[in-house]
Amino acid sequence: MKLKDLGEFGLIEQIRKGVPLGPGVHRGIGDDAAETSLPEGHHLLTSTDLLIEEIHFRHDWTSCEDLGHKAVAVNLSDIAAMGGLPRYLYLGLACPGETELDDINAFLKGALDEAEHHNVTLVGGDTCRSPGPWMISVTIEGSAPAHQAIGRDGAQPGDLIMVSGTVGDSALALHWLRDGAEPEAVLLARHHRPTAQVELGRLLGDNRLARAMIDLSDGLAGDLDHILQASGVDGLLEEDQLPLSKTFQQHTDRDPGLKNLALYGGEDYELLFTVAPEKAVEVAALSVELSLPITSIGVILKGSGVLSLQDKTGVVRPILVRGYDHFCR
Ligand code: ADP
Ligand code: MG
Repeated sequence: MKLKDLGEFGLIEQIRKGVPLGPGVHRGIGDDAAETSLPEGHHLLTSTDLLIEEIHFRHDWTSCEDLGHKAVAVNLSDIAAMGGLPRYLYLGLACPGETELDDINAFLKGALDEAEHHNVTLVGGDTCRSPGPWMISVTIEGSAPAHQAIGRDGAQPGDLIMVSGTVGDSALALHWLRDGAEPEAVLLARHHRPTAQVELGRLLGDNRLARAMIDLSDGLAGDLDHILQASGVDGLLEEDQLPLSKTFQQHTDRDPGLKNLALYGGEDYELLFTVAPEKAVEVAALSVELSLPITSIGVILKGSGVLSLQDKTGVVRPILVRGYDHFCR
């Protein structure tokens, strides 16, 4: 069956039936607007992402279920990066009428499973026909206690720069996909099924451990640069401290040219944050509690936004920051 056989309202009704009202939802799918509430004393956090076929994904590289999962995960990651708790999801979907309903249902399964995993409720969206490419818009609302959300602008000289997980795996998978090769399953999983570090973000917020935070979407160097610019400080990264997976290291041992992906590759969806040195012990305890590696990779210095890298021989040089820019490539 095709999407055009079910129709817009048929699809919306099918989505509505599959989604229970969650906590804080007074009206969900089916009215002109969703009506929700936040706990007393919380501020609203809202984040939106667009995913366009051929720009952000290709159907021949990505299953529809993975696409649904990733669309929600990358948006959850933005709420995590504020130290917030995600709550409500909105899904905009534009597909051609010829789209197989099985593909739409697989996409919705991926999206709703990931939302449910984080106790997030789908409360609305929009559905329309596309003349060609799939276009997906995901919005998540979350909350944090007043004055607790963690911005990019709070880094202070002396702070340690820390990152969760490993970096570069997703970009390495994309590198091989573009090359026409089949990357290892562990790399593919990092690319297609990123983990939103929601629990870590929230605990860093609740325990007031991070002073500045961002999630890694455009690449470590470019995303750290956002913190440096917003905070008006310099940053020094230590090359040999960057957390790399075993698989990533095997690839770079064979081809050292790929090492740059750790600094410049995107879509890691790990959290990058700065921590006052006296809080480092608490962050280490959190790492154990969550069974999630958290690595100190450098330090924040007084300055005006310059990022430098100390290589393995101890030489320090400023590094070129080139995060992903949709219009300047
Ligand atoms: P309107 O014409 O007022 O935009 P719609 O007919 O588009 O209303 O939507 C009806 C209801 O279905 C609304 O509650 C809307 O939020 C919800 N909805 C529409 N599309 C989606 C979707 N893709 N996912 C979740 N909810 C949706
Ligand atoms: Mg509508």
